[in-house]
Amino acid sequence: MDNKLMLMIPGPTPVPETVLLAMAKHPIGHRSGDFSEIMAEVTENLKWLHQTQNDLLILAASGTGAMEAGIINFLSPGDRVLVGCNGKFGDRWAEVCDAYGLKTEKIIAEWGKPLDPEQFRAALEADTAKTIRAVIITHSETSTGVLNDLVTINRHVKAHGEALIIVDTVTSLGAVNIPTDELELDVVASGSQKGYMIPPGLSFVAVSAKAWQAYATAKLPRFYFDLGKYKKDAAKNTTPFTPAINLIFALQAALQMMKSEGLENIFARHQRLTQATRSAVKAMGLPLLAPDENASFAITAVMPDQVDAEKIRSVMKKRFDIVLAGGQDHLKGKIFRIGHLGFVSDRDILAAIASLEATLQELGYENFALGAGVAAAAKVITNF
Ligand SMILES: *Cc1c(COP(=O)(O)O)cnc(C)c1O
Repeated sequence: MDNKLMLMIPGPTPVPETVLLAMAKHPIGHRSGDFSEIMAEVTENLKWLHQTQNDLLILAASGTGAMEAGIINFLSPGDRVLVGCNGKFGDRWAEVCDAYGLKTEKIIAEWGKPLDPEQFRAALEADTAKTIRAVIITHSETSTGVLNDLVTINRHVKAHGEALIIVDTVTSLGAVNIPTDELELDVVASGSQKGYMIPPGLSFVAVSAKAWQAYATAKLPRFYFDLGKYKKDAAKNTTPFTPAINLIFALQAALQMMKSEGLENIFARHQRLTQATRSAVKAMGLPLLAPDENASFAITAVMPDQVDAEKIRSVMKKRFDIVLAGGQDHLKGKIFRIGHLGFVSDRDILAAIASLEATLQELGYENFALGAGVAAAAKVITNF
């Protein structure tokens, strides 16, 4: 049956009809007053979403573009940076830093485990000469479903006093509370196809006053992603280069939806979906990759030991039109990941869990009483 596909991967995420329809228009001129009005509105609403008064800049790029912009605008060749690596995206930060010739020092944790804030504290306290220019982490590590302890790591960065805190919030923004100003986060990077409920193609960078000071002396090469250009033009509600106009229409509609739901409700919904999913997976006797205390609110990674993860994904797709994500790098074939980020409701989780039960049954896995997963998810949803 056509049009029944349910995307439950951690990006692209499902897009609401209101947002799709907002895009289905002729583009308008990006130097027009009409476009500037939209830019003013979306910028204001992006600040609301980030809980910040800092500059909020919109790039025509995927999330990695925002990550790259977050590095090249604020650092110089040979700068010493601490990078948290406990999954694919933490590793990507390190790759960007390496590509630009920074002195990259990795703080590593096993995939599936959170970064240890103590290791950051030790490295930052040992740096009495204040040579560490930035601490760079991934808040929600999408490859493993681990939520890193941004608050504690950031506290150690603040105690250091000099280093910038640069954060990938691609799968945490719009899912968990990120009070940018309260935490004094310097660079916050995110992308449209995750919590924003719009298609891929836009990314976002929030920049603090302290980061702009670093910008003034930063020497890495930059042109398209020179955020100074975006800041200057944002003051006139425009962009230095042709923006992805129709995606901005989508952004306008999506942010209006988010505002009417409210931040507290958005965070509560993601927490509820996460707890329901994890509770159901446990009731089916399947091991979870990430610990409860560090569970990402965007994605749940499951590491089945008695059924093949790829077979599960294949049956879920063929029989139920539900697309789950697989594992990346060395976790390929070993895990499957259930996305519950953005435009996802309680009903979607119940449907996915019921389908997962039927899939396990079809694959001959009988380590649970049929219905146990749905019962566990329903219990979380009704008692939340
Ligand atoms: C998706 C994602 C990105 C960005 O990836 P793109 O493919 O460039 O959009 C970055 N970090 C995390 C944690 C992600 O989940």
